[in-house]
Amino acid sequence: DDDLALLQHDGDDEDGTGAEAPLPVLAIVGRPNVGKSTLVNRILGRREAVVEDKPGVTRDRVSYPAEWSGRRFTLVDTGGWEVDVAGIDKRVAEQAEVAIALADAVVFVVDATVGSTDTDEQVVRLLHRSGKPVVLCANKVDGPAAEADAAVLWSLGLGEPHPVSALHGRGTGDLLDAILDALPETSAHGVLRPAGPRRVALVGRPNVGKSSLLNKVAGAERVVVDDVAGTTRDPVDELIELKGVPWVFVDTAGIRRRVHQTTGADFYASLRTQAAIEKAEVAVVLLDASQPMTEQDTRVVQQVIDAGRALVIAYNKWDLMDEDRRPYLEREIEKELVQVTWAPRVNISAKTGWHAERLVPALETALDSWDMRIPTGRLNAFLGELVAAHPHPLRGGKQPRILFATQASTRPPRFVVFTTGFLDPGYRRYIERRLRETFGFEGTPITISVRVRE
Ligand code: GDP
Ligand code: GDP
Repeated sequence: DDDLALLQHDGDDEDGTGAEAPLPVLAIVGRPNVGKSTLVNRILGRREAVVEDKPGVTRDRVSYPAEWSGRRFTLVDTGGWEVDVAGIDKRVAEQAEVAIALADAVVFVVDATVGSTDTDEQVVRLLHRSGKPVVLCANKVDGPAAEADAAVLWSLGLGEPHPVSALHGRGTGDLLDAILDALPETSAHGVLRPAGPRRVALVGRPNVGKSSLLNKVAGAERVVVDDVAGTTRDPVDELIELKGVPWVFVDTAGIRRRVHQTTGADFYASLRTQAAIEKAEVAVVLLDASQPMTEQDTRVVQQVIDAGRALVIAYNKWDLMDEDRRPYLEREIEKELVQVTWAPRVNISAKTGWHAERLVPALETALDSWDMRIPTGRLNAFLGELVAAHPHPLRGGKQPRILFATQASTRPPRFVVFTTGFLDPGYRRYIERRLRETFGFEGTPITISVRVRE
């Protein structure tokens, strides 16, 4: 409990609930030993000494207040996060992913004397995918002779490598200037999502009723032709008003243009599904209530989870549902949909329009959960109670302790739990179950990553 109390230090205004706009967040990422901690200390300068006055706090800190040229920002240091020697690539990439998710801009540190490694390239791919501004720091350039090593790093495709010696301070001023250029004025975290209609994908295997549902929905309601402010819409998307609220149905061209099934069509159908899911915020997976579930159905559900999108399950063709099939359906739900018991389910008939109006509330519930942020204080109070009521089982006389947790991002909610040892998979599931019981999260996948520290 003491730990949890101690670790709530960061709560200045990180949930964005205070009057002041949240400070932009800068994450320092890179492989172990490239000099991240040295750089963090260099950037913090004397400020860190202040932190060290409070014993026990420094070691457990994740983020620090920093300032350069009168601009303040929050610095996230991944240097203290333990990385296993086994499976090191994966863990570096995982850490980088969480840090990138937390950040408004990223400093990617590479050891210029070593050059870029496979692990570096993995992180580069993550950075490219994130679309976040990146400042490339070529560290350990202690003198002019090493400048050439830095220039080689242009090949990473992250723009200009900034030659720096974090150890001696060489080049750090220029690096910080570049950082300030890259950082937005305020953080996007805790700020409401951009305005504009919410984006929904109708997905499911061929013949499940996607185009029928689209027609039913578009037929009963108004299809908006004029542009709504803040909408980025492809011609393949349709803007449909449901009960006065516009929604973007993505990739409807693919649904309307009923592609003739040929060899290999499966593969392309799957790609198209993937693309639609990625463009959407919430996906409605249609299942045929009158037919046994197939592997293709489970694959689509899995695609939505893997993409981290909100999920609604619609059992279509309910008008064809034979009461004799009911027990089989229930068993299927228990067996095939056990990993998505949190998804709202609606029974509909796209043909008759029966219950179609129930889709909208389900979509709204799922999206609210997808957007939900649990304030750090509340999250840690919840974990404190959870641990008190049901401690992690002893393992070899030892017990991993939970130090602190934070919700690193929303859409979908991602949690990072800092501990003194690995948590059993069963205990992780217990945490997820309790999180859902306590806070809801109906209709959204959530992820929990565990960071083990000394
Ligand atoms: P991290 O694991 O990425 O946080 O790396 P550290 O900051 O702990 O640094 C790893 C090692 O590299 C330490 O021995 C540092 O002293 C050394 N180091 C860091 N920056 C520099 C630098 O600019 N030049 C040189 N020569 N060594 C450095
Ligand atoms: P898609 O390939 O997923 O777009 O599926 P379609 O919308 O083209 O539907 C395939 C077939 O199922 C068509 O013959 C539809 O008329 C039929 N169908 C779709 N929804 C329903 C429903 O709710 N009830 C019944 N009885 N048939 C449906």
